[in-house]
Amino acid sequence: MFTVGLTGGIGSGKSLVGDLFRALDITVVDADIASREVVVKGSPALANIADHFGGGILLPDGTLDRRQLRECIFANAAEKTWLENLLHPLINNWIREQLNASASPYAVLESPLLLEIDQHKIANRVLVVDVPEQLQLQRASSRDNGNPEQIKAIMATQLPRDERRAQADDIIDNSGSIESTQQQVFQLHGNYLEYARLK
Ligand code: ADP
Repeated sequence: MFTVGLTGGIGSGKSLVGDLFRALDITVVDADIASREVVVKGSPALANIADHFGGGILLPDGTLDRRQLRECIFANAAEKTWLENLLHPLINNWIREQLNASASPYAVLESPLLLEIDQHKIANRVLVVDVPEQLQLQRASSRDNGNPEQIKAIMATQLPRDERRAQADDIIDNSGSIESTQQQVFQLHGNYLEYARLK
């Protein structure tokens, strides 16, 4: 399956661009969903996590207390590595299964961490959604009703804009209207159909 890795910082417009590809009947696999699916109630990975961090890491209904887990690994690099070693291979397998099951001419893997972790290895091409940082902050804050400081803290954990752009094969400029972004998606869709045909 010819796979385009779609990434960008928080609030850059990944979900918007993913939806525009879906509207063209292209399979879009969402890495955020993958990261939730591998730790659903009853999964082996969730049992591992509860063994490692203690049963208190579960909510009363038996599902993962994500907020608490984030706090456990936030200031502890060794725990973060332990968790990543457990989850990343499972997440990548889940993604590969979804891609293999897809019947669309090519597929898109939407992932906020495509370039930060080894997920780009799944992709044949890297598509970056790009907006200036100020606009990213503004759009993410108004979407999440969040305070800008929180968004800034998340941005600080992600790749800087220049580094992300430097790793892109294609860039969508999402600083304009949704229509302008849609036009760029149409254009890329034509290219991707051709690349997938030639592969
Ligand atoms: P991401 O998935 O990268 O975090 P989203 O696709 O959720 O980003 O976009 C962030 C917010 O900005 C959303 O509320 C979205 O509706 C809005 N948005 C995205 N692109 C545009 C655009 N071109 N014009 C206006 N609003 C936009």
